[in-house]
This record gives sequence, structure tokens and C-alpha cells, in this order.
Amino acid sequence: MHEFSMVNQIFRKCLEVARQNNAKSLSEINLEIGDFALIVEVYAQQAFNALKKGSIAENAVLNIKRTPGVLYCNSCQQKSEIWFNEEKEKAANEGRLKEYEQYEKAITEESLLKGNPNLGRNLFHCRKCGSSDTNLIEGKGVLIKNIRL
Ligand SMILES: [Zn+2]
Repeated sequence: MHEFSMVNQIFRKCLEVARQNNAKSLSEINLEIGDFALIVEVYAQQAFNALKKGSIAENAVLNIKRTPGVLYCNSCQQKSEIWFNEEKEKAANEGRLKEYEQYEKAITEESLLKGNPNLGRNLFHCRKCGSSDTNLIEGKGVLIKNIRL
């Protein structure tokens, strides 16, 4: 399970920092996860709950903030962000909610990197000029923002 190994790695790192600071407990871990990091939050929380048992982080909470994908457009050389929430609203207003839900599902099913025909065809288009000649330059990463000891 992809989420488990990701959370495990982060959890080890946080424990290490706690140890270096002679902390008696770890109460909070704040993460930023890119919308395209293929991380399902529910699974990440489950992994965290399993890992923290019996550790100094037993009562810790894991806070996850999603960060948007950022496209770089090769046509107009501008950057634009992909906000799923806004995309969803827009899709609903245009009567494309079903289509949106398909690509939302496709992303959580880890099929993004393999390429998935169900992905919304406009998802990776430049928001400034509409070109499809874009690269996803941000939004695939996971970052430990801070921890509370
Ligand atoms: Zn553009």
C-alpha cells in the first residue's frame, strides 16, 4: 500500500526529530500533499493511526493540507493552478459533474501516471490560453510543513 510506506517514512523522520529534541511526546504533524501525489487521505490517516500506537506520538494528530497542481504552459510561458474544488464547481455549473467525478476517481485510483482515458480532457489545459502543451511542475510532492512536540 502506497500510502502506508509514505506515511511510515514521514513518521520515522518526525520521530527522529522528536528524539533529537529530547521530546517526551509528539502531538501534531502537519503535511502538505500535492493533489497529484496519488495519496488518498483516508488511507494515510489509517496508516498513521496504526503506526503511532505505542509510540511517543500515540495521541498525535495528522493534519493534511492539499496543495494544487501547477501547470507550466509551453505556449504562453505562464503558470496556472489546478484546484480540484473549483474544477468541481465549474463542472457542476456546466453540467459536467459526472465527467469530473470520473477523473477525480481516476486520480485516487493511482492511474494518473499510467495515463487514463477517463481523465477530464480539460484538466491539463493552460488556464490562461487554453493550450494543451503543458507540463505539471508542482503538485506531486509531499512536504512535512512542521511538527509539534
Ligand atoms: Zn498558456
